[in-house]
Amino acid sequence: MSQKPNLPGDKVAIIEEFETGNNTFDDGHTIRSVVIGTSEFDKIQRIAKIKQMNAPAVPQVNDLVIGTVVALMNNMFAITMLYINGKPTHSGLECICQARGAKKRILTRVSDVVMTRVISHLNGAIHATINEPELGVLFTQCNKCAGKVIAMGGNVKCVDCGYIEERKLSSKFGNSDFIKLGSK
Ligand SMILES: [Zn+2]
Repeated sequence: MSQKPNLPGDKVAIIEEFETGNNTFDDGHTIRSVVIGTSEFDKIQRIAKIKQMNAPAVPQVNDLVIGTVVALMNNMFAITMLYINGKPTHSGLECICQARGAKKRILTRVSDVVMTRVISHLNGAIHATINEPELGVLFTQCNKCAGKVIAMGGNVKCVDCGYIEERKLSSKFGNSDFIKLGSK
């Protein structure tokens, strides 16, 4: 099952449809989770509950998170976490990274592997930055032909087709020992 886990405070169901079960509370309108876990619904007894995940790995502020870019939005992108401080994580949780500074451009692509640092937990989301020299893209491929790329200043260049594209590269770009890189 690849259901995304609920975070504390996440909406699980509405009170017109379900009653609160294990690990949930109702806020007068909505049934919400009090733990990190997956939702389960008893449709006969109309009970919504959360099955708590074992040792949920939620990164704290300042933790290093390495993940795969899964979505690009206007001036932010989302990664699925792979490593927290060098420890593999399988929670499926996502981090949001916002582009900062004058350019406000997203210098990464879906499926890039990036190193980020957690800066806050806000509105139930984990926010991270790549705005430090060692943070940013650790692994990427040519956007045209999926070929191998090499760093060239603030760009990457494909060794197969020669295509050049801007990236916010980590100073550790090219090193694929993600566990060691992400360790504090
Ligand atoms: Zn190429």
